[in-house]
Amino acid sequence: MRHVLALDQGTTSSRALVVAADGRVVGRGQCEFSQHFPQPGWVEHEPEELWQSTLASAREAIAQAGVVPDTIGITNQRETMLLWDRETGRPLDRALVWQDRRTTARCQALRTAGQSEAIYAATGLVLDPYFSATKLEWLLEHKARASGLPMERLAAGTVDTWLIWKLTNGAVHATDPTNASRTMLFDINSLAWSPQLCALFGVPDRILPEVRPSSGDFGLSAAEHLGAAIPIRGVAGDQQAALFGQGCWRAGESKNTYGTGAFLLLHTGPARPVGGQGILTTIACDARGGPAYALEAGIFVAGAAVQWLRDGLGLLGRAPESEEMARALTGNDGVYFVPALTGLGAPAWEPEARGTMVGLTRGTTRDHLVRAALEAMAYGTADVLETMRDVSGAPLDVIRVDGGATTNDWLMQFQADVLGVPVERPAMIETTAIGAAGLAGIAAGVWPTAEAFFGSRSYVRFEPAGAGNPARQGLGGWRRAVRAAVSWARDRDG
Ligand code: ADP
Repeated sequence: MRHVLALDQGTTSSRALVVAADGRVVGRGQCEFSQHFPQPGWVEHEPEELWQSTLASAREAIAQAGVVPDTIGITNQRETMLLWDRETGRPLDRALVWQDRRTTARCQALRTAGQSEAIYAATGLVLDPYFSATKLEWLLEHKARASGLPMERLAAGTVDTWLIWKLTNGAVHATDPTNASRTMLFDINSLAWSPQLCALFGVPDRILPEVRPSSGDFGLSAAEHLGAAIPIRGVAGDQQAALFGQGCWRAGESKNTYGTGAFLLLHTGPARPVGGQGILTTIACDARGGPAYALEAGIFVAGAAVQWLRDGLGLLGRAPESEEMARALTGNDGVYFVPALTGLGAPAWEPEARGTMVGLTRGTTRDHLVRAALEAMAYGTADVLETMRDVSGAPLDVIRVDGGATTNDWLMQFQADVLGVPVERPAMIETTAIGAAGLAGIAAGVWPTAEAFFGSRSYVRFEPAGAGNPARQGLGGWRRAVRAAVSWARDRDG
């Protein structure tokens, strides 16, 4: 039996899985690491800790499995940027994490200078500190210059690149197209680093990693790290790895992660789709791990609305109680909750919006408010997916789901009914790591095809009710509530 080691380097912990060729997870490891907040809005990770926590979790998973893996797949927190010295391997600074907002003013200046459109055309991204380019520009200006090192000594990269470098003892400086597509330096049309954007951000292209296929050859992990020399054959950013792990590699297949917030991706196939309205275009993987396109958007508050009703208002003791409370009602009785607690993302885009409840009467109970928070997750998801479908013309055939709130069967059925599309929930919830395992295992021949990798996976499927169902009909009321939240935000002067 052959095995794949999947490394999942996330924002708060590093995890590892050993996956057998028959799909069973036979080893697990996890290791947390520190978060650094040196100034308001700054978020940093210690590069050595990212590496050591990855190594520790990998060793734990391998020890538990009691096997030598045949190949390694890597998935990682995206956009986080590092800069190091090629000769000594020493980082010039901590990693600047995707959450870091220190380059907000720089992004504003670029917007004022009219750069947004050219950046969107090349990268499919909106001009925001979230992406890596202004972080790398900051590292070059504030750290590289002071170090006095010549440019040929410097290597830049996202977390995947750093881990590949460490595993191969500096032999390989590479990334994959999904990670590259989040840097704001990569042209998603030509699938190459953009000379114009490198010039704009003062990034010499020789410090950037080579871009290799996500299911490809990233060198050999040196024997000293994991007990044997193991080929690294798969790499993808966390969201794209989850999309692949959910078996979404054709146009029309989407995944949604229902956690604190929600992360949606819709696979749109081999041609670049039209985005807009706050929806990003990004690189995903096709069935062979080659580059394809996807639309991506986030909902800031999803499960967090239930958390707030629980912790802020004390309306329920545990999040899972929300299911029974929603079921206790036959309908929402016109009560809607727009949980814009931190503003509204795609497709409404109103940062000044705040949480809004509408339709309250003397008959409104706590069950109505709890149900409205669950409905909001489903309606918000429908707004994003239908906007993706409408702007791009891509089909929407299935949603595969993961994240904490997907244990709520009522919510899953409601979601299927609202969208008129089946919702599939996998038995195996670690979709991100599984996706990295799939990419590596397909390249290494553990699975001959993506179908073989996905084949034995089991799903619970929620079939949608007919078009005139009450959940779908409620979408009009939800959209009216969103318009109320938006107009409240914009009506400052009466
Ligand atoms: P994250 O990884 O973003 O921290 P998780 O995937 O662990 O989040 O999901 C936790 C979120 O899901 C919480 O916000 C919680 O309120 C919500 N949640 C958990 N269980 C349920 C449930 N049964 N019904 C609705 N929401 C739930």
